Order: sequence, then C-alpha cells, then structure tokens
Amino acid sequence: MSKIIAINAGSSSLKFQLFEMPEERVISKGLIERIGLANSIFTISVNDEKYKEVMDIPNHEVAVKLLLDKLTELNIIQSLNEIEGIGHRVVHGGEIFNDSVLITEEVVEQLIKLSDLAPLHNPANIIGIQACHAALPNVPAVAVFDTAFHQTMPESSFLYSLPYDYYKKYGIRKYGFHGTSHKYVSRRAAEMLGRPIEQLRLISCHLGNGASIAAIEGGKSIDTSMGFTPLAGVAMGTRSGNIDPALIPFIMDKTGKTADEVLDVLNKKSGMLGVSGFSSDLRDIEQEAAKGNNRAELALEVFANRIHKYIGSYSARMSGVDAIIFTAGIGENSDLVRAKVLHGLEFMGIYWDPALNKIRGKEAFINYPHSPVKVLVIPTNEEVMIARDVVSLITK
Ligand code: ADP
Repeated sequence: MSKIIAINAGSSSLKFQLFEMPEERVISKGLIERIGLANSIFTISVNDEKYKEVMDIPNHEVAVKLLLDKLTELNIIQSLNEIEGIGHRVVHGGEIFNDSVLITEEVVEQLIKLSDLAPLHNPANIIGIQACHAALPNVPAVAVFDTAFHQTMPESSFLYSLPYDYYKKYGIRKYGFHGTSHKYVSRRAAEMLGRPIEQLRLISCHLGNGASIAAIEGGKSIDTSMGFTPLAGVAMGTRSGNIDPALIPFIMDKTGKTADEVLDVLNKKSGMLGVSGFSSDLRDIEQEAAKGNNRAELALEVFANRIHKYIGSYSARMSGVDAIIFTAGIGENSDLVRAKVLHGLEFMGIYWDPALNKIRGKEAFINYPHSPVKVLVIPTNEEVMIARDVVSLITK
C-alpha cells in the first residue's frame, strides 16, 4: 500500500488527488484557485465532506505547502512521509517524451525548453513541479504528458502540408493533446468490450471545455483532432477549432487587432461562446436552446456537426470502426450532444438506443445489442492514470 498524489498545476490553479495504491482508492481531492490573486480559494474533500477556505495564496509554493499542511491537519495522513510518489500532469512533452518519465534536473531543463511549444501551459506545470520538489525534496516525482499517447501517430498524420523544413527546424507538426484521457478510455473500452485492444479500431471523443477526437488503432493513437496547439480540431467551449488560416490577416485588417489579439479571440471568445453570444458552458446552451433560442441551437449544431464529421473521417482512416467512445463533461453527460453527433450514422453500422443514451456520468453501452459498431460512455480518469504511472516508474 502506498500513497500517491496526482497534481495538475495551471497558471493560477492547482488540482490534486491523493490515492491509496494499488487499490486506486481516492483518499482526498481538492482544488486551489486564484493563486496569486486576492481571495484565493482552497477546497479539499475527504470522504464526502468538503472543507473550503478563502485566503490569500501568493504563489504555487505557498499553495503546495498549504495543501500538505492540510493533509496532516485534517488527519488525512499522519505524516508527510506516507506520500511515496508525486505525479504531475504536463501538457507538452514534444517529441522528446513518448511516455511518462521520472523527473530529474535534466527532465526539468527539457521541459523548460519545451515551453516554447506550450507557452500557456508548460511554465505553470514546471512551477507546480518545482513547488512540490521544494516541499518534498526526497519524494520521487513523475511527469505524465498530454501529448505522449499521440507520439505513435504516423508521419502522414502528424505532418502539416507545409514546407518540410519547418518541421525539421522548428518542430512544427501535430502533437495532439488529452492523450492521458484517450488512453484511459480506450483501455477501459477494450475491457468493457471483452476484446484485446490490439484488435480494435476505436474513435474516442473527449468532449469537455476543450474537446478532441482520437483515432486509436490496435491501442495506438494514429490521428487526433488537436494539432500543434490545443486550438485545432473541433469547435469547443471558447476555442474555434479549425478555421481557414487566411482568416487571421483578414480579421486583423477588418478589426485592427494584432495577431496576438486575434489568437486571443480564437482561444477565448470563439467556439460555443462565439456562436451563441452568451456562454461557453454546454448546460447554459442546452437550456437556452430548449427555450427556442436560435443562436444556442446553432452553437449546438456547429459543435456536434464537427465531431460527427471526424467520426466519418477517422472511420475512413482505419477502414472501419469497432466502437465510438464518449467521455469528459459533455461526452459523459449530454444525451443531446451524443444524439446529434450520432444522428444518421446507421449507414456505417452505428445503431444507438435513445433510451440507453439517457445515461449520465456512468460507464454504459448506448448501442442496440445488434449494432455492429458499439457506442460507449466512459467517464475519464486522468488522475488514476497519473497515479498508475507513478507507481510503475518508482517501483522499477
Ligand atoms: P474541462 O475541459 O474543463 O475539464 P469538463 O470535462 O469538466 O471540462 O467539461 C465541461 C463541460 O461539460 C461544460 O460545457 C459543461 O457544461 C459540460 N457538462 C458538465 N455536466 C453536464 C451535464 N450534466 N449536462 C450537460 N453538460 C454538462
């Protein structure tokens, strides 16, 4: 039995889950928000009890120290010595990391270099790693990358049709993200289907605030919708997904915005928020659409329609598909989005049951038994994947 903590550090937040391994039992989890701002919020839950405190947390080091203090103060653990490993979610592993890795000084240096590719994410992940190292210098730490699972993509999938030199000189290629989630649900799908993953062609739809689709053949990612950054692919809560690149200078010209400002619009003011004009949150969009709001209905259609087309495209890429997987906030909970995505796909052997589709937040098959292609809802669990990788790397 050992206790492993999984950390997901963002620029102003830090999420954590403490696991008892190998049982994979969550002992405690929580979130620190508004780090570096006034009135930071610390939330931690143990057994079904929630503890919340508002205070000023100036930086990630203070946040980590506070978290560790609370774990003992609230008797969640008796001593920090009980923590045997730390797992950090890291967004970008570039082409260097195709799997999780034990963190050394050299690894941190490589992560710093990779920040060039993920300036919004990697620096925050590194701060989280350093803050944990300062607090628990003797506890081994592991980095688990969002990009690693997609490193199996063939060159024909990851290469952009740009001058080849750009790939070699600047690392311009598709990396893909949400890899830990796609990997987790694809493994679970194989277990649920009772078939070896090596024999399966899966399409995994991770639909949260960020959304990406992955084509997984024989357990390996062979293509995915996100690209050089998490902006590409399907429409998302606030991100545009794929657009005609010539629109960027056109928008700059029409609005007087700089390239960075246009990029900000594509990242933060587009997607369902942009189309609906009022919210990026699917629950709000669904509510308004039910009342007859046309723009909300349109936002839903745009969102679902892109995913629907990826299913066709990735089925072609794999010469067929055995199962479609829905996961993350929207994929796990929205029967409406799932229905729109799956609509009209009977021609390719997808027969889904509207009654079973009502399921929310639970593992389930939503296809009719005779459907050649199965459709699964699988709640994702990136944290348990992190904890598993920590255990396997620290016991090697
Ligand atoms: P993140 O990418 O931030 O991890 P999540 O996976 O939590 O995102 O997904 C957030 C999205 O899931 C939001 O659009 C939210 O509206 C949607 N969502 C969560 N619960 C439900 C629900 N019960 N019904 C419909 N949509 C939901």
